[in-house]
Amino acid sequence: MPADRIAAVASLAHRRGFAFPSGEVYGGQPVAWDYGPLGVELKEHVRRQWWRTVVQHRDDVVGLDAAVIQARPVFTASDLLDTYTQTRVRCRACDLTQPLDRIVEAFTVRREQPAAALAELACPSCGSRGSFTDPQRVSGLLEVSPDRPGSPDRYYLRPEAAPGTFVNFANVMIAARKKPPFGIAQVGRVFRNVVGPGEFLLRSHERERMELEYFVEPGSDDDWLEYWAQQRWDWYVDLGLAPQQLRRTEVPLAGLPQHAKRIVEIEFRLGGAYQEFVVLEGITNRADYDLTAHAKHSGADLSYFDQDRGERWVPYAIEPAADLTATVFALLLAAYDEDEAPNTKGGVDKRTVLRLDPRIAPVKVAVLPLSRNADLSPKARDLGAALRRRWMVEFDDSQAIGRRYRRQDEIGTPYCVTVDFETLTDDAVTVRDRDTMAQQRVSLDQVERYLLERLPPS
Ligand SMILES: [Zn+2]
Repeated sequence: MPADRIAAVASLAHRRGFAFPSGEVYGGQPVAWDYGPLGVELKEHVRRQWWRTVVQHRDDVVGLDAAVIQARPVFTASDLLDTYTQTRVRCRACDLTQPLDRIVEAFTVRREQPAAALAELACPSCGSRGSFTDPQRVSGLLEVSPDRPGSPDRYYLRPEAAPGTFVNFANVMIAARKKPPFGIAQVGRVFRNVVGPGEFLLRSHERERMELEYFVEPGSDDDWLEYWAQQRWDWYVDLGLAPQQLRRTEVPLAGLPQHAKRIVEIEFRLGGAYQEFVVLEGITNRADYDLTAHAKHSGADLSYFDQDRGERWVPYAIEPAADLTATVFALLLAAYDEDEAPNTKGGVDKRTVLRLDPRIAPVKVAVLPLSRNADLSPKARDLGAALRRRWMVEFDDSQAIGRRYRRQDEIGTPYCVTVDFETLTDDAVTVRDRDTMAQQRVSLDQVERYLLERLPPS
């Protein structure tokens, strides 16, 4: 295993097309990433797994896709305009801007005591002492200026999906004929004007989130928070993150934002130079903070009339909010492995393999003719075309078969199907398993069924 696992994964991601520095031909932006062909598939599969588990498999959760650009009142009521800020300092020696709390925290951990003054702190990047500018508090929201004639409002890109969900609470409840407990789910991009040395994909102003607001009767909220914390933990484990790589933490009461009654976090051990852990998900009890605030600011009625009890109450919101970007990164890191594979010369080659769960592997099946041949290639192409109706399939007939296996292992393709010269007489192919490298002869008319039994729906 490489000493620097993050660097190995970042290199693989670039080489094979999971993610590139954004606008690389112009030197790349330091805080943005462009997802390549395989990254798009991986991300989409993870998102779909979340949607399946949280929305499709349940009858108490429905979906929503609210606008990314929202007007100022939406954020004022959500308390984001005032509280979502970051205090930063710039190092005069190396010009790097960094969040103050990160530097203070590093100092405190190292010295086991808090710093008395800013001058005591060393720059984590260049090591200079006393080189920081005065701290500056900036909004975490990114303001945009759409041309909307007649509107005096100011507009912002959403830093989380939640505000769009809360303002649609009554619309969705009535249209979908739901009553608490029920949930509204949203996935999509969010934008944050925060800086910070993060690892690889985490170093970005743009994140993708998978958020659920689950509305419950006040008094049942503690139990529902526990329920969702467990559900979400199990989801990560089911998708391939080992429990020993995860950590459940409780945000201390003193550190809770105004809108939260309690926050439980699920973190993944990154082991990076900048970041030891990354938060995959926060499960927050927001109580009735948001619905009450939006009702007050908008004048709309955002309560629920409980016919059984003959009274009206404002539901509490339990919010399991997952960071899709961090989850994709964690899954890549956890799946990265190096082992040895036998080669044709009787020895072994080092191989890199992504042990991704088949449900999230970008390519499900590779179809490989043993060699580029006038008889083999058409047969292999036909098989590839047939399987492609069901799965993402790669066809590859260049270079030696061993190298092509290596390429598929490296991107996590669960199955390789090889069409060889025997196929021409026995109408069967060899199916190779990524993890065990075991090969099995399967008749051509059974290949699809064979793969269907092994590739769960994704
Ligand atoms: Zn510096």
